Amino acid sequence: MAAGSTVGEPVTSAAEPSPWSVGAPFSARPAVQGSPHPANPEGYGPLELLVIQPTPYCNLDCDYCYLSSRADRHRLAMDTLDAALERVLESPYVQGDFTLLWHAGEPLTLPIAFYDEASARIARALERWSGPPLRIHQSVQTNAMVINDAWCDCFERHQIHVGVSLDGPAFLHDRHRRTRTGLGSHAAAMRGLAALQRRGIHFQVICVLTEESLHHADDLFAFFIDHGIRDVAFNMEETEGENTASTLGRPQSEALYTAFLTRFWQLWQERPQDLRVREFEGLCQLAQSDSRVERTDMNNPFAIVNVDSRGHFSTFDPELLSVHTEEYGDFVLGHVMHDSLVSIVATEKFQRIQTDLRAGIERCRAECDYFGVCGGGAGSNKYWEHRSFDCTETQACRFRVKLTSEVVLAGLETMLELPAAPVS
Ligand code: SF4
Repeated sequence: MAAGSTVGEPVTSAAEPSPWSVGAPFSARPAVQGSPHPANPEGYGPLELLVIQPTPYCNLDCDYCYLSSRADRHRLAMDTLDAALERVLESPYVQGDFTLLWHAGEPLTLPIAFYDEASARIARALERWSGPPLRIHQSVQTNAMVINDAWCDCFERHQIHVGVSLDGPAFLHDRHRRTRTGLGSHAAAMRGLAALQRRGIHFQVICVLTEESLHHADDLFAFFIDHGIRDVAFNMEETEGENTASTLGRPQSEALYTAFLTRFWQLWQERPQDLRVREFEGLCQLAQSDSRVERTDMNNPFAIVNVDSRGHFSTFDPELLSVHTEEYGDFVLGHVMHDSLVSIVATEKFQRIQTDLRAGIERCRAECDYFGVCGGGAGSNKYWEHRSFDCTETQACRFRVKLTSEVVLAGLETMLELPAAPVS
């Protein structure tokens, strides 16, 4: 997952599903039971997340962003949205409720009327659905800069779950999350957050950790608590797309991250009821239930479907949709106006990606002690770090899975006064 990316969260106890309940580290999903649908003999899916890009445009120019097209003001047309919903709902991959996440650009640079009309189109698509009762839960990932009461009305009207990208106190946030003229965005984001809080709208903060953040566990924890932020997920700054070098690639970063997370765990242990931390909860739930991750939505075909603002679609990581690579070309697999989801399975491009991803996952399963808490990782990290999907360890998985697991398991062992044991 890229810095600022929103996809990925452990199984959650929150009442409303969130975009982070899929594709996450430490998220164990049971395999689908029963015979596969005749149009889906491979048993792909089920669809958990439909990522739709309302516009590539962003009103910020964060220096760690992976997207190259964030100055492009193109807007998703409503007939493209209709076609995307139709392609998804006619497919054999829909087997229950799923989340539609507005993402990959700043969704709130479009007017509120866009989401009113889109919500009406979603309702109409569901009226045409002939299967068992189904809900499409809308979510939006935003930098919160323009959130006001009118946006809060919109979120309430359409029950849109809100994820906010916020990197902690201003001195950390404004180092990277700046406007095109170089101004910090923290004050505006905090105004948006305050509007959500006044209205009692639940939100989750995605906080990107760069090397600078790793020196400030106490400051970050205090910031979340002092500002009434109750739900946090950490994403790592990653080497991906436009961001060709992460600050976490520096030699001392792994030791700094371990120290940071160990301190954050200690602080969290003192008041776990005040802050939900995605990484801690996910691993604690896996440990408690003694379950293991077999696959992730990021590497399971059609668990995630991504549609860009021009109607191109892909599956696997959302981050793979809008990039061009020497080895694979682009990762566009079809267009919602003329390709069904099922039809792309037979294409050479899908088969090549799927074969390489599977080979990488099998190598992970055979070689990595952490497979049971990871499921084989995200293709985008593997590609950007190794220029191939057929590989195992990445810098991203060392931080997101391996070091995180070590800190949490050590913390649990200390809590339970157990002797240290290896991960398996
Ligand atoms: S090598 Fe990395 S991606 Fe592969 S299973 Fe282990 S932690 Fe996951």
